[in-house]
Amino acid sequence: MKFSGSHILSISQFDRSDIERVFEVADRMAPYAHRQRVTKVLDGAILGNMFFEPSTRTRVSFGCAFNLLGGEVRETTGFETSAIAKGESLYDTARVLSGYSDVIVMRHPVSGSVAEFAAASRVPVMNGGDGANEHPSQALLDLYTIRKELQHQGRSDLDGLRIAMIGDLKYGRTVHSLCKLLCLYRNVTVVLIAPTELQMPPAIVEQLRSAGHTVLESDVMEGSISKVDIAYSTRIQEERFADRAEADLYRGRYRLNQAIYTRNCEPNTVIMHPLPRDSRSEANELDNDLNDNPNLAIFRQADNGVLVRMALFALILDVVEQVDKNARDVNWYTERRF
Ligand code: ASP
Repeated sequence: MKFSGSHILSISQFDRSDIERVFEVADRMAPYAHRQRVTKVLDGAILGNMFFEPSTRTRVSFGCAFNLLGGEVRETTGFETSAIAKGESLYDTARVLSGYSDVIVMRHPVSGSVAEFAAASRVPVMNGGDGANEHPSQALLDLYTIRKELQHQGRSDLDGLRIAMIGDLKYGRTVHSLCKLLCLYRNVTVVLIAPTELQMPPAIVEQLRSAGHTVLESDVMEGSISKVDIAYSTRIQEERFADRAEADLYRGRYRLNQAIYTRNCEPNTVIMHPLPRDSRSEANELDNDLNDNPNLAIFRQADNGVLVRMALFALILDVVEQVDKNARDVNWYTERRF
């Protein structure tokens, strides 16, 4: 794909060489994300960060990625403080805000709304999550993390990957995008573990099968995670249910803790989660007793988000080859923390 000036709305836009390109640029962002070098390549550029649903990591890491490239961030959060609450259409909002920014990241509760917004925008728009539909930058950082974790184990290939996805696969947009991304690879085994009512949408299962992948569906976790490289847990997406009581029917159904991990998983199985993990006692999908497990990759995953989002900005705004020019070492105290 041509990155420069493009919207990033869905994983379906990418082919395998595009993914390689994103990952290669993400690797090159490490000295900046890891606070060893400073670049001002986007000095003067403005990111419009528009989040109409709760977010911590996605919003802050997109903003942080833009700042690390030298750009400035303007944020709009929540409907109440935006003119959308006065009845303004996405079309009008996009026409106006694309005059104030060089690139926009948007999260919105309605599937397809970010694409609708992008159609009216005069600058590139990135989908930071549209309802239960997609979360493309999360899938990219998830696969980047999987690749890194496997490399750490001495494996260089994503083909042949075995992954279990656990939890709310019906409404979880991160797993929707990740499945689409895995369709670009070969011979993947995907174990889908969810309550029957919250299984992966059939169209996505069909896409996986058409890509030649092995898809196994189950509503039981123990026994289903015994032969996987990756156990990818997800949160029950309460905000997509009619009410809390309906979400309560499923909350806490799948809880992974150290004892269950030891009993069921291979010693190298990597534990992932897009976060936030729901740590309330009635949910507790990933127990705190996993925090010292070296295969718990959830915080490395969040760190990797900055690298991948920097890469997307650098590619879309066409500055990849300029990033290292005029860069310098940091001149403040930094703890080695990556
Ligand atoms: N942060 C992810 C998302 O926005 C996962 C989640 O909220 O459960 O989709």
